[in-house]
Amino acid sequence: MSRKIIVIGSINMDLVTSALVFPKAGETLIGTSFLTIPGGKGANQAVAAARLGADVSLIGCVGDDLFGKELVEHLKEQRVSLPDVEPVTHTQTGIASITLAEGDNSIIVVPGANYHVTPELVAKYEDLIASCDTMLLQLEIPMESVEMAVKIGRKHGLTIILNPAPIAKLSKEILLNIDYITPNEHEVVELLEGLDEVQRNTLKEKLIITKGAKGITYYKNGNEQHIESYPVEVVDTTGAGDSFNGALAVALTTGNSIDKACRFANAVGALAVTKLGAQSGMPTKEEVEIFLN
Ligand code: ADP
Repeated sequence: MSRKIIVIGSINMDLVTSALVFPKAGETLIGTSFLTIPGGKGANQAVAAARLGADVSLIGCVGDDLFGKELVEHLKEQRVSLPDVEPVTHTQTGIASITLAEGDNSIIVVPGANYHVTPELVAKYEDLIASCDTMLLQLEIPMESVEMAVKIGRKHGLTIILNPAPIAKLSKEILLNIDYITPNEHEVVELLEGLDEVQRNTLKEKLIITKGAKGITYYKNGNEQHIESYPVEVVDTTGAGDSFNGALAVALTTGNSIDKACRFANAVGALAVTKLGAQSGMPTKEEVEIFLN
């Protein structure tokens, strides 16, 4: 069985500054450390799936700057295929400027080149999409591009998984044509808001809600199913959801039932939180096998 996954989404460089306290408006203070870490939900989910041994392609954009070059190299090293990724000229690579202080974080995201993942660009890769089995989407690229991806994915019979983060209002076409939607417990509240009873019930069958340390809730034939999370020692929860989604795509692509796929993704999410960093914490197939045996 073919095992091809297409991810269409964001590629970012996370700029992580640590300080003892947050600066006040207009204040300059000395920080304690600075790191650049590859991120972006699209890239994170693609790397999660590739680490688990899947054949993964990522449609995304970087700018014509050093971060763009570094991220493309990094994704290739992670065995993620980037079909003909040309840096978008006169545009900066997407960044997330993250400040860690006082046990909390504050984040500013500048999408930059991610907003050049246009519907036209997605349509350009229709043949590649048609050759894949599973499509993995998030919401860090323009909504019209997500709509185009869903349209092409549905036309070619792919299994479509949408991780609705950061949460935004979704069109009827998207909700109708995706197979699975994976909000966390905060996102699901907004997702269901404003939907009528019929729409809620239609959506329920597609819902897989991740609840951090409280595990996963999903629905089968209208019945709520719950899987407890694995008790693990938490080091860093960044990218838990991205690891979960990458793993879910891998498990579904290899023909597993939704129950088995959720169990596998639950293990991958748990392993991801035991290590530092989003992508650097994502487990390999071998690590998951050892964990589950
Ligand atoms: P997000 O990062 O999108 O907010 P969650 O925090 O819900 O996503 O995490 C996704 C999945 O990762 C969870 O459903 C669970 O399987 C796993 N996970 C997350 N946090 C923990 C934890 N503290 N212990 C064990 N598993 C976890």
